[in-house]
Amino acid sequence: MAYTPHTTSYYAASANPSPERPPLNGNHETDVCIIGAGYTGISTALFLLEHGFKVTVLEAAKVGFGASGRNGGQIVNSYSRDIDAVERSVGAQQARLIGDMAFEGGRIIRERIAKYNIQCDLKDGGVFAAFNKKQMGHLQAQKALWERYGHTQLELLDAQRIREVVNTDRYVGGMLDMSSGHIHPLNLVLGEAAAVESLGGIIHEQSKVIRIDQGERPVVHTEQGQVKADYVVVAGNAYLGNLVPQLAAKSMPCGTQVVTTEPLDPELASSLLPQDYCVEDCNYLLDYYRLSADKRLIFGGGVVYGARDPANIESLVRPNLEKTFPQLKGVKIDYAWTGNFLLTLSRLPQVGRIGNNIYYSQGCSGHGVTYTHLAGKLLAEALRGQAERFDAFAGLPHYPFPGGRLMRIPFTAMGAWYYNLRDKLGV
Ligand SMILES: Cc1cc2nc3c(=O)[nH]c(=O)nc-3n(C[C@H](O)[C@H](O)[C@H](O)COP(=O)(O)OP(=O)(O)OC[C@H]3O[C@@H](n4cnc5c(N)ncnc54)[C@H](O)[C@@H]3O)c2cc1C
Repeated sequence: MAYTPHTTSYYAASANPSPERPPLNGNHETDVCIIGAGYTGISTALFLLEHGFKVTVLEAAKVGFGASGRNGGQIVNSYSRDIDAVERSVGAQQARLIGDMAFEGGRIIRERIAKYNIQCDLKDGGVFAAFNKKQMGHLQAQKALWERYGHTQLELLDAQRIREVVNTDRYVGGMLDMSSGHIHPLNLVLGEAAAVESLGGIIHEQSKVIRIDQGERPVVHTEQGQVKADYVVVAGNAYLGNLVPQLAAKSMPCGTQVVTTEPLDPELASSLLPQDYCVEDCNYLLDYYRLSADKRLIFGGGVVYGARDPANIESLVRPNLEKTFPQLKGVKIDYAWTGNFLLTLSRLPQVGRIGNNIYYSQGCSGHGVTYTHLAGKLLAEALRGQAERFDAFAGLPHYPFPGGRLMRIPFTAMGAWYYNLRDKLGV
């Protein structure tokens, strides 16, 4: 069978040592079989193991092969659509439950890092940057909304103050969230996987699931083996393909690109982001950036609907990098890669059960570092018979993308183009 390594990225090049895990071979039994070793799968495994379950994780490639090992590393609170959108689409009690969980993922990440001593360069502080008054107005409303749900580590930044944290003249203001922050994303998931194994969990890499037989005890098949389990958790997200067709119908894989510069002169690096906060802007098609521990600028953006691999990643990202920091014109890019996230029409996570014993969580639509850690806790709670918080997400309505299989990509790209134009015009 072909061996699938990590994508060529700065994160893979600077990953902490991690063992090769053997593929699944032969017939096995367990309490819970998890498909996918990204944050969703590994976080679920860890919560379950902490509560005495036997767990086997099957990963098609390597731990952190998907978005969890490729992302911008930004710990962003709440969801890709904010709590106000949830309040508008579901009843008060369900919205209250989901709102109350909007800041839990970041806490889980910090607890995991402390408890299992994970070396992943955690830094506190993240900034939302506004290009115009309209976006600034949204940030003011967001601050009031988040404060209503008990999150108070927020500061609005005026034009002068934002320049003290981001050395560019592109923004009219922003909002600093001190419970946001950034991590080396691949090292986070590798550290969590080591924690899974320290508690007796089993992870098989190079073990693509090709079929799930539903039943009283479902059976999960790979090319060379099978696992019979009481429960299955599907955590393949944008890399799942058509393994579970009913999930694929209401979600769409999308690509986003990341580049990493050569290490910058330390003075230049700290002149760009003096407090070492991470930044994402408020555009619909947003850019996100931060410094690495070895003082490179990691800059992401350039969404591609339908997740085709772009021919030239650098050309999609460099223009906005240089517009943001003209000081870096012509800077050498050492790494450029693409990664897929899973978009839903509502941009809220797609969560639920198939029959009694197959559970899933996917589709956090761009902001998933925190939500996926929360998802692990919710899935584990549900399997332990406490499903109230899981069901709050499972009850969110989801619809297919307009345009059907053939036209949904151009239709969605057109919608994004429209919102992007509005961002540019500030209307
Ligand atoms: C480039 C990029 C930048 C991003 N930046 C940020 C950010 O800064 N902040 C933020 O909050 N969010 C960000 N996100 C989103 C975030 O990374 C994701 O929401 C999150 O990592 C999803 O985790 P996951 O475990 O659900 O999926 P993934 O990490 O994609 O993991 C799914 C895993 O399942 C495996 N798999 C799939 N099918 C099978 C199968 N049949 N058998 C076995 N294994 C299978 C895959 O190989 C993969 O390893 C970004 C995403 C990308 C792509």
